[in-house]
Amino acid sequence: MTINEDLFARAKAVLPGGVNSPVRAFLSVGGTPYFVSRAEGSRVWDEDGKEYIDFVQSYGASILGHANPTVLAAVGDAASRGTTFGAPTRSEVELAEKVCSWVPGLEKVRMTSSGTEAAMSAIRLARGATGRNKVVKFAGCYHGHTDSLLAAGGSGVANQGLVGSAGVPEAAVADTVVAPYNIVPTLDEDTAVLAIEPVAANMGLVAPAPGFLEACRAECDRVGALLLFDEVITGFRLGQGGATTWSGVQPDVWAFGKVIGGGLPVGMFGGSHEVMDHVAPLGPVYQGGTLSGNPLATAAGLAVLSQLDDDRYTALTATAAALASGLAEAMASAGVAVQVPQIGPLVGIFFGDEPVTNYDEAKASADRGMYPTFFHGMLERGIALAPGPYEAIFPSLSHTEADIAQTIEAAAEVASTL
Ligand SMILES: *Cc1c(COP(=O)(O)O)cnc(C)c1O
Repeated sequence: MTINEDLFARAKAVLPGGVNSPVRAFLSVGGTPYFVSRAEGSRVWDEDGKEYIDFVQSYGASILGHANPTVLAAVGDAASRGTTFGAPTRSEVELAEKVCSWVPGLEKVRMTSSGTEAAMSAIRLARGATGRNKVVKFAGCYHGHTDSLLAAGGSGVANQGLVGSAGVPEAAVADTVVAPYNIVPTLDEDTAVLAIEPVAANMGLVAPAPGFLEACRAECDRVGALLLFDEVITGFRLGQGGATTWSGVQPDVWAFGKVIGGGLPVGMFGGSHEVMDHVAPLGPVYQGGTLSGNPLATAAGLAVLSQLDDDRYTALTATAAALASGLAEAMASAGVAVQVPQIGPLVGIFFGDEPVTNYDEAKASADRGMYPTFFHGMLERGIALAPGPYEAIFPSLSHTEADIAQTIEAAAEVASTL
């Protein structure tokens, strides 16, 4: 028995599925998960000592790559002054100032400890600010594991083959409407909020069609609903201004997470002064958290953002482009029909002949059943992709040209076996 197998057996006795987040259990690809013992830059090492080039990067939380020295120093320095106080700190202010200066239209934020909380709170805020209840979301967009948002949630929810989740009462989703991505839904005057991943990265990687986000904006304006960009993945990844700058479309409310925490637990939601002043203590929409704005997390976030500028985003996009074109070519030379979308620094992979534009098409691609073989072929060759067909591929700023070349070489070998 390998150390990974032994740990997985022990884990299954005390953790459901052996994990603390379902996709990690390898259910949709089969086999035993690798247990990470350490990581650095583009690499992770498992408990058996095997090294991988890592494209999971904590589902995009590590944009700089693992164990970035500046981030580690900032966290260590913050920790030496205490880890949580239940009182405001300087670094919360600095982090909030920075993100508000980067994202056009974002004037105030409230920090949380996860992306789930950020999206959940953004929805509550939208309902409180509009006095309406109905939430419209898109199939295949994931907004965390809040009851009302799990319907057709993509990502780990899709891997489970569940529409939403057991334990969610009908009443909790009674006001949730699910619409197909890339078709502008017709809203009514009961709609509080239209929630969207402006670039969908939890059903593989799906781009908004030209004009789609603009039309969603216009439809919200027509009925007085708020537009929520869930930028937990796209925020501070597509560029300093995230999907807002990338698309030129400004929502009313944003949710952030992942990159902004520098690998520590952070989320954040925000909007204009006018919208955010509905949040307690200024307004009647309650929201709070013991560890919200935690000093370690905000120190990490600041240390990440301080290393990101246009040049670095350009470099990361170039890495993503090299990876995407290399993967596409490797598959095509072996006669494997594949789509490798690339949007800025994000990459996806779908098996099939046609570009994927929505959740049904993403599912049809996953249902071809090629991903598990591809995944395990890559893993054997030391390339770690996410263990499910609905996740994006996350190159980091630590991935070198040699890393990408090695990845493409492995993909060519695997392609010949598909
Ligand atoms: C990951 C993710 C979330 C949930 O964030 P957690 O930190 O896992 O709670 C919400 N929305 C999107 C778009 C995500 O990718």
